[in-house]
Amino acid sequence: MHPVPEPVPDDAALPSRADVVVIGGGIAGVAAAYFLARKGHSVALLEKGRIAGEQSSRNWGWCRTQNRDPRELPLQLLSMELWDALGRDTGEDLGFRRTGLIYVTKSENELATWSAWIRMARQYQLRNAELTAAEAKRLTPGNEQDWIGGVHAPADGRAEPAMAAPALARAARALGATVHQNCAVRGLDMAAGRVAGVVTERGRVAADAVLCAAGAWTSLFCRRHGIDLPQAGIRSTVFATTPGPEVTPGGLVTPDFTISRRLDGSYIVAAQNRGRLEVTPQGLRYARRFWPTFRERRKSLRIGVGRSLVTGPEAMAGKWSFDAPTPFERHRIYAPPADRGVAGPALAKLKAAYPVLNGLGIGGLWAGWIDLTPDSLPVISAVEQLPGLFLATGFSGHGFGIGPGAGRLAADLVSGDTPAVDPHAFRYARLVDGSDLGTPGMM
Ligand SMILES: Cc1cc2nc3c(=O)[nH]c(=O)nc-3n(C[C@H](O)[C@H](O)[C@H](O)COP(=O)(O)OP(=O)(O)OC[C@H]3O[C@@H](n4cnc5c(N)ncnc54)[C@H](O)[C@@H]3O)c2cc1C
Repeated sequence: MHPVPEPVPDDAALPSRADVVVIGGGIAGVAAAYFLARKGHSVALLEKGRIAGEQSSRNWGWCRTQNRDPRELPLQLLSMELWDALGRDTGEDLGFRRTGLIYVTKSENELATWSAWIRMARQYQLRNAELTAAEAKRLTPGNEQDWIGGVHAPADGRAEPAMAAPALARAARALGATVHQNCAVRGLDMAAGRVAGVVTERGRVAADAVLCAAGAWTSLFCRRHGIDLPQAGIRSTVFATTPGPEVTPGGLVTPDFTISRRLDGSYIVAAQNRGRLEVTPQGLRYARRFWPTFRERRKSLRIGVGRSLVTGPEAMAGKWSFDAPTPFERHRIYAPPADRGVAGPALAKLKAAYPVLNGLGIGGLWAGWIDLTPDSLPVISAVEQLPGLFLATGFSGHGFGIGPGAGRLAADLVSGDTPAVDPHAFRYARLVDGSDLGTPGMM
């Protein structure tokens, strides 16, 4: 059972037109819809399943600067400010708390990589600090193990995945956006060489601009319109415990597991190295583009074949018609199977490290489908080849924490306003003109 996202009311009638149509009710789409509505645009937010049904409710909830690719840091710093402000501005609780995040290690290499990152990040006035062995021990009270050191990011934190995107969708609605769940977009409506709206399973919506924030489905959606978007999926399994005593207020990375404490006192637990790269038709299409990324991460990935070969966002899909159900309606909520072998051993390691957690049980086990780009940076950008189309996608396993800033930036670009941060690193063109170096940043 995965976390059930909070409910969001639906608007009964699909509008015949909107200034902007947003496709996808994950954190990127709802944040963009919120900021577009705040700028005074009429917005229709269309979601094939339910708000936050896919990645945006299945993640750990980390909102972190630590170990970010430097090209993402300005957008992440904006996001941290927005996480603080959104609770106040919307009157909604997104579950965001600046609890701090802690990383501890027994590896000299890992410590050296983190230290280099901290030196780099000084230019952003971050207070993230390297920890000595003694400091790392002091910040992990109750843990039986010894570390050679670590990192503490005191201003980082976490939000509640089941609460955040639904809260923002409700806030967008309060500003006049309309929200339509169980409403798949089948494709773009084109007129005179530009985007004129969308075709949905319930009819057409005319629009001046369309923002596609369809998560792992974006590549498939774009391909139907001749737009090439290299995207690869990783199936990632996590589990939740039953509530228990607090051993860390926010998030903790150790060599054996990562834990995130939730507001109800339970933990989300991820075993290290449990990402699974599955062989899919889309994966094979883009294999060459992702080779440097997968080579770099080979120790943390297992390769296999699963149901994703024949079903889901990366399975073969020809040119579908807009007059009949499409792959999007056939997968209202894409719920990849969880790796059942993960929970038992990781819980045993957690209990061995923290005897005080001996009473914990398993409260849920689920998987999410992470959408990567070749350089692990998102695309937040206009698509020059199709005037009127914008993308906010490819968050590469770290899009929840950066979601508010991504939505704000997408809203700026769609509106033609001065962007809140320099959008150059996130341009779509880098993925097709060869100007991405294929070098993965830190995840
Ligand atoms: C196990 C796990 C742990 C993670 N931990 C973290 C973390 O701690 N911190 C962090 O920052 N990130 C984390 N991530 C990554 C993060 O969850 C994602 O990067 C982020 O949620 C992506 O948001 P999104 O809006 O782009 O996509 P999604 O949340 O996947 O939303 C896309 C939506 O588009 C809809 N859609 C698709 N096609 C159509 C269509 N044609 N018509 C209508 N709707 C459509 C889908 O139904 C979906 O709801 C984690 C991910 C996983 C799986």
